Amino acid sequence: MQNLKLYNTLSGQKELFQPINSEFVTMYVCGPTVYGEPHLGHARPAITFDILFRYLRFLGYKVRYVRNITDVGHLLNDSDEGNDKIGEKAKSLQLEPMEVAHLYTKRYHEAMSLLNIEDPSIEPIASGHIIEQIEMIKKIIDNGFAYEVNGSVYFDVVRYNKSNNYGILSRRNIEDLMDNSRDLAGQSDKKNAVDFALWKKASPEHIMRWPSPWGLGFPGWHIECSTMSCKYLGDTFDIHGGGMDLIFPHHEAEIAQCVAANKQHAARYWIHNNMITIDGQKMGKSLGNFITLSEFFDGRHEKLTKSYHPMVIKFFILQAHYRSTVDFSNQALQASEKGLIRLFSGLTTLDKIKPGKTSSVDITQFKIKCYEAMSDDLNTPIVLSYLFDLVKIINSTYENKYILSEVDLAEVRLVLKTYIVEIFGLVPPEKESESSIDAIINLLLEVRGSAKKKQDWETADKIREGLNKLNIEIQDKKDDTTWNYIS
Ligand code: ZN
Repeated sequence: MQNLKLYNTLSGQKELFQPINSEFVTMYVCGPTVYGEPHLGHARPAITFDILFRYLRFLGYKVRYVRNITDVGHLLNDSDEGNDKIGEKAKSLQLEPMEVAHLYTKRYHEAMSLLNIEDPSIEPIASGHIIEQIEMIKKIIDNGFAYEVNGSVYFDVVRYNKSNNYGILSRRNIEDLMDNSRDLAGQSDKKNAVDFALWKKASPEHIMRWPSPWGLGFPGWHIECSTMSCKYLGDTFDIHGGGMDLIFPHHEAEIAQCVAANKQHAARYWIHNNMITIDGQKMGKSLGNFITLSEFFDGRHEKLTKSYHPMVIKFFILQAHYRSTVDFSNQALQASEKGLIRLFSGLTTLDKIKPGKTSSVDITQFKIKCYEAMSDDLNTPIVLSYLFDLVKIINSTYENKYILSEVDLAEVRLVLKTYIVEIFGLVPPEKESESSIDAIINLLLEVRGSAKKKQDWETADKIREGLNKLNIEIQDKKDDTTWNYIS
């Protein structure tokens, strides 16, 4: 039996992980709403649950990992009123909603692949499961926990809370929730302001709509995860994951829907990763610190002093425990970059060491220590600290301060490769070098500099205007010329 302990948000403590089936683990994670470029907020849950997926398999389990794509029902401001995020984007880009979903699903997959995140076993799409969602809503109505008003169906939170606990996961109190949402009362069809939509009637301007027993409409955001998790993993499954921002209302609502439909909790372990801040601030478009993953990878954001390899972003995230917040800054990322290079150079140096007959340093405890840290609620920063200890031993051995036997050298290699490559999914970042585009632009600026010296203003202007047309802005300073992409 394995000794993996995971922090279960439902019980509020670390628990020994015991799957329903001793060999087979079932896991569902809330995936992206595909209406914009993937950003750090997408990277952290994807990395956290990829590491859990990889570690469970390392422990010998077979894993069915389901991560959904939300392409319908997620309304602006995460509320029950307003426009659909994807529908809005489609209107602004004059595209079909499916084109928007397709485009950003592709962008998400590209970013995940650069981060070397493995594909889940199944990636169901919400709009492909409308029939199943309608069936689940019908079941909830039949069991008396939902009601229809004017073509919309709402979950009756007050009724549910009489025999169950709405707030069991988020530890919120329904009376407080009623107080806080009172101002909405009277403005909607809901019986109680805390009730949430299972199905919404489509207004004439709402472009995403399907026929249902209640008329033309679309599913609420929460019902898709309950429907798709149970469809692919069964009415009870092991792990449900996501970001902490989803605990309320999304995951609280998921629990209520499953209990209302199937009279039992679906997920046994609720695992949540913490949030990411940038320079100490919450990420937000209005704060100007909303940096997409591709902007990190190519450095095209005013807050970034350089580009960062996807592995640096991943390594940086792994340096914090998944339940701690992570604060991104240029300084911290550059420190991570150095750390990552040091880790991989340890593996290179290891190959150059000639084994001794016996070892002068004890490395036997590292395998156990890494296993214990990783099994203690996936403590990746502690595991990394042990891996850096091993790199120090490698470097000292290379400098002839220690001796390592052939067996111990093989053991060191095994521990490093297991954690760095197999479990963390890190690959060596390419050597930092100017991209070919950067090199071409710099060459053009050099030519322009010589032209200016010869007072050949025609050539100098031609280069400036040509680059401008390519969205590149030149700034002539006292003794230097700099360039930037025009955002
Ligand atoms: Zn979800």
